[in-house]
Amino acid sequence: MQTISADYIYVGNGEVLKNYAIQFDEKGIIKAVLSPKEYTEKNIQPVHYPGALCPGFVNTHCHLELSHLKGKIRKNLGINGFIDALIPLQQYAPSEQEIAQAIIDMAKQGIVAVGDISNTKHTFRIKEKLTQLHIHTFIESFGLNPEKAQEKFFEALTLFHELKSEYKSLTPHAPYSISKPLLKELLEYACEERHILSYHLMESESERMLFEKKQGKMYERLLEWFGTMDFFEPDTQNPIDEWIAHFPFDPAFPKSMMHILFVHNTFLNETELKKLLEHFGKSYFVFCPNANLYIENHLPDVDVFLKNKVKICLGTDSLASNDQLSILAEMQTLQTHFPHLDLYTLISWATLNGAEALYIEDTYGSIATGKSPGILWLKNTTTQLNEATTVNRII
Ligand SMILES: [Zn+2]
Repeated sequence: MQTISADYIYVGNGEVLKNYAIQFDEKGIIKAVLSPKEYTEKNIQPVHYPGALCPGFVNTHCHLELSHLKGKIRKNLGINGFIDALIPLQQYAPSEQEIAQAIIDMAKQGIVAVGDISNTKHTFRIKEKLTQLHIHTFIESFGLNPEKAQEKFFEALTLFHELKSEYKSLTPHAPYSISKPLLKELLEYACEERHILSYHLMESESERMLFEKKQGKMYERLLEWFGTMDFFEPDTQNPIDEWIAHFPFDPAFPKSMMHILFVHNTFLNETELKKLLEHFGKSYFVFCPNANLYIENHLPDVDVFLKNKVKICLGTDSLASNDQLSILAEMQTLQTHFPHLDLYTLISWATLNGAEALYIEDTYGSIATGKSPGILWLKNTTTQLNEATTVNRII
């Protein structure tokens, strides 16, 4: 049994404990959280860490299968330029070593759990073999041509069954890449099976223009790609309305119960956010600020999300759109652009919210007796992050 203390312990649920101590066993399971009075009375002398301790980070959005693309795509191309640059690069598969290295690096950076997107099986063997991280795999499907919906759905379902893990879901990619029949098929299956969904949403302004006016950069790119956009006939004029319109109605499992991670939200406005909240009570909004700056050089309007009291989580996206896979780096970027954010808020986004989103809060996400969330030491910080803040793993 070991006992450690710190100037500040960030619990993960928004609470901050001053000079408290944590007792944990050799498996990393927390046995007690002790106040200064309690450990003094018990004559325990904790090992003290100056700065702050917090639970291990949960990275709710990553694409490990793009781990070989670091530095291969130029910054600030916008989402359409980014996708154009990404598609030819996807003919090269990552090596197992590159995927393993990304997992090891994330673990070193204090990440204990990941929500990882897979469009292929490139990462499956490594994910089954390495145990450093808890990995929830989102098998993601896309295809805008309605005639190919059945084929695409079965492709994704085959991949889903191929992965030997109980932590997996089938999920649609994004409003601009999914035909109506494919979206319907995926959502019906996912709702029936109670899957967690992960949906790339409002990563660019051109996504809204596509639905609103059938114009703009996204529309032009797709038109060039397919040669025609005659088959693109959304029922609504907005990506969020379209999602709501196609969500299956199941009286036994209302949509307010579904766990949905809406990822990016870079250009999501307050009206759209409110609509989502009205229909999907268990929504989680994932910010990937460094990837947003890399691709669009724009960040979500964080204050609107705060005002509406939504559950925010953090993600790194992939090495194709980020220089590193570090949740601390994502928090530092947010702290720089939104200096009024409290550290306890940022840490709750990086830990407990992510654990809840991935249904792993019984083990991960907060410092509480019985959990084994991993414990991180944040150096050079007390109540705000700065560029000098570093993370070290205690367990
Ligand atoms: Zn992504």
